[in-house]
Amino acid sequence: MPAGSIISRPLFRRETNAPLRAKETEVNTMRRPLVAGNWKMNGDLQLVMQVEECLAEAELGHLDVVICPPFPYLSSFTSDDIAIGGQNLSQYESGAHTGEVSGKMLKAVGCDYVIIGHSERRADNFETNALVADKVERALADELTPLLCVGEPLEIREAGELFEFIAAQLDAVIEHIGIQDMAKLVIAYEPVWAIGTGKTATGEQAQEVHKFIREHLAKRDAGIAENMQILYGGSVKASNAAELFAQPDVDGGLIGGASLSPQDFLGICQAAK
Ligand code: PEP
Repeated sequence: MPAGSIISRPLFRRETNAPLRAKETEVNTMRRPLVAGNWKMNGDLQLVMQVEECLAEAELGHLDVVICPPFPYLSSFTSDDIAIGGQNLSQYESGAHTGEVSGKMLKAVGCDYVIIGHSERRADNFETNALVADKVERALADELTPLLCVGEPLEIREAGELFEFIAAQLDAVIEHIGIQDMAKLVIAYEPVWAIGTGKTATGEQAQEVHKFIREHLAKRDAGIAENMQILYGGSVKASNAAELFAQPDVDGGLIGGASLSPQDFLGICQAAK
């Protein structure tokens, strides 16, 4: 198909009744890997088709695959093998909020997930921990699974304040929605210094923080901590994904730049075991 062609696909054909993950209280679950692509403000209708075609030919039944394209492309995804998610939602249910998109709207076009608290939104749109917590609550009310992003800027890491910083990001949400509802989230650890920079955390650096996140949750509920899917994000590529995903507390990835190449994204999905 020539670049710029419009792909005509039926709207709203996707079923959106996938239940949120059940609340778990026992410490015994094998966590399923999840790889999510965050296209940010990139991509086009042709990429929707290319990604669907590329992933359709692969055996990816062992993991959850999620694509979070810009809002206008959400309804163009038709594959039942790929879940879709928004990159943001409003903290409000509806109303006079020009330019905003509600959780119900995301659900209506087939989303099961929504990214909340991405560092680019925290920086560009001044999203505070409190606002992020409100958005998580809103997403849950609309039966979307929040992909909650946490992660430290370089200066925080260098100042030795990494763990306090991540704990504060998590606690704002836990205290707002309660620990039991944390079972309905996926957490993405995304060190800000690794996002879009080509600098990836080493497997050891990622594992250290993922373990901290799991232990932090475990102080309140060991079952929820054990079952939590914790993704790593920050310059993941097909070439470094296997090392990152091999870490015991890394359950997959949130992928920015590399999700714009269907072949690279497929390679990353295949690295998730
Ligand atoms: C992201 O934006 O969530 C991300 C991880 O980006 P990148 O993979 O490009 O670093």
